[in-house]
Amino acid sequence: DTTADVDAEDTLKPRPPVVTIMGHVDHGKTSLLDALRGTDVVAGESGGITQHIGAYQVKTKGGDVITFLDTPGHEAFSEMRARGANVTDIVVLVVAADDGLMPQTIEAINHTKAAGVPMIVAINKVDKPEANPQRIRERLLEHEVVVEDMGGDTQDVEVSALKKTGLDDLIDKILLQAELLELRANPDRDAEGTVIEAQLDKGRGAVATILVRRGTLKVGDIFVVGEQSGKVRAMVNDKGQNVKTAGPSTPVEVLGLSGVPMAGDPLSVVENEARAREVATYRHELATRKRTTSAPT
Ligand code: GDP
Repeated sequence: DTTADVDAEDTLKPRPPVVTIMGHVDHGKTSLLDALRGTDVVAGESGGITQHIGAYQVKTKGGDVITFLDTPGHEAFSEMRARGANVTDIVVLVVAADDGLMPQTIEAINHTKAAGVPMIVAINKVDKPEANPQRIRERLLEHEVVVEDMGGDTQDVEVSALKKTGLDDLIDKILLQAELLELRANPDRDAEGTVIEAQLDKGRGAVATILVRRGTLKVGDIFVVGEQSGKVRAMVNDKGQNVKTAGPSTPVEVLGLSGVPMAGDPLSVVENEARAREVATYRHELATRKRTTSAPT
């Protein structure tokens, strides 16, 4: 994080884990994200009206909440990390049991290790007759990923995103891992967050999905985000509902930006609009100077 200030111990409250799903193309990242989203008890109640905002939350049967980044793709993960935005607490590595470790699987393992983020292996497509989960576990050893069965401490779980089996088990393992991490944040302060995705929307203007990291983002808050500034005009959650507040680990689409920020940009709430513009302008000038000096002549 760019900010050095630390919240006092007694202000910290538990926050949901933020999970990224990685793995080789066609191994079932999208299917698994969809299947996990389908386990949300709240979506079940509201008729399952969902909206793609780049991240979503699942409320489990036990009442726990997990935030999933819905932007699979290693580029997003490594680009955000390169820009200093380490938003992921846990990586779920999807490996198709009928295929094996492929180049992007190994890339994902390396990214995850470099980020120092704990990994859970989801061995997917176990419904297929040719599935061989044990072979996956053995192959993982070659990359120093040692699952519990092999005497290591990496959790693994057999799933079928298609048949929707093993999902509760995966969720339990995510929650167990999250508990070990003791994830906490101060919800009672000005919000700080990270841009997950952003675009110019016809009619709504610049919109950005912000993952709140600490504090609580509120409608009316004045903020700086990357080289842009703004005032929260409205917020929409992953269920397409308008919300007035968003606490730690909550993804929310924010309206009211001066322009489109970049994925990985930090958002900070500031005291007034003059300050917001001042910081945004300063950052813009800094970035322009950097672009000019690093541009090839
Ligand atoms: P991604 O590229 O990693 O996002 O993979 P997708 O989720 O798009 O899945 C790739 C293909 O595998 C699709 O045709 C899915 O229907 C199929 N698939 C995904 N999960 C499973 C599974 O658990 N079992 C079977 N049999 N097929 C699956």
